[in-house]
Amino acid sequence: MNPLDAAAIGLDIGATKTLGVLVDAEGRVLEQVREATEPGPDGVVRTAELVVQHLSAATDGALPTSVGLGIPGLVDLERGAVKHAVNLGVDGDWVPLRAELEARLGVPVAVENDVNVATLGAVALSGIRDLVYLSIGTGLAAGLVLDGTLRRGATGAAGEIGHVPVDPLGAVCQCGQRGCLETVASGRALAEAWPSAPDAQSGPPAQALFAAAAAGDQRAVEVRDRFAAGVADAVRTLCLTVDPATIVLGGGVSHLGAPLVAAVSDALRAQAASSPFLASLDLAARIRVVPDDQPVAAIGAALLGRA
Ligand SMILES: [Zn+2]
Repeated sequence: MNPLDAAAIGLDIGATKTLGVLVDAEGRVLEQVREATEPGPDGVVRTAELVVQHLSAATDGALPTSVGLGIPGLVDLERGAVKHAVNLGVDGDWVPLRAELEARLGVPVAVENDVNVATLGAVALSGIRDLVYLSIGTGLAAGLVLDGTLRRGATGAAGEIGHVPVDPLGAVCQCGQRGCLETVASGRALAEAWPSAPDAQSGPPAQALFAAAAAGDQRAVEVRDRFAAGVADAVRTLCLTVDPATIVLGGGVSHLGAPLVAAVSDALRAQAASSPFLASLDLAARIRVVPDDQPVAAIGAALLGRA
């Protein structure tokens, strides 16, 4: 069989760029395309169409069997519509993304939340069917695949771990509650606690912070450890709720790689030091970081479209 006979396209639509992949029947990436995301409802549709056209060209014009896409924001699965994707300039009425793209592309299109497609991608790449994907991006959110099934929840709010309040005296969160995990354990919180202009030398704030801490800067060590303890709180809460075999750290901050896993593992071990119960769960051993060289969300989106 020609591998392109079962080729599917997956799109990861982000605030600044849209990444598209063409995957074969086994989920292997055959082709990748990246384009700047045009903001606004029409811009998002045009960008998605452009990326699909580029990927189709790589198959000598043969149309893929399906297109799946992941997008930040609230997704109505029934209608394939999106709302509250504020960073994409989509903040008014529901945008019927699926209907508009199916009309333009002539193939079935599936639309899902970006954290959920990344979770599906992490499952496909790891082969582990009981997994929580913790996305540490600008915010903090988790995707849950339990016994092989994606758990969305009754209203799609499953995994909104970033808005679990943990500190009654903490900062007011964007969601209106006080002391949410996201106010401590997110890229935004980290950038506020360790402001640094991104540059070629030190990289984004997370890289700059972890480098300063590794170099022995005491203030950086404190900020890093507070952040890591917040991520560990999220991991602990998720594990005590659904007890997954594996927790995969993803999102922009996960580009830190091994130093992030080490900091969070240290925090988990410190939390377990006074609790034989918690220690017996060995949460630190369940932490992984998403492979840095794999477009996990786009792969998950392609698999979603095929399903
Ligand atoms: Zn909140």
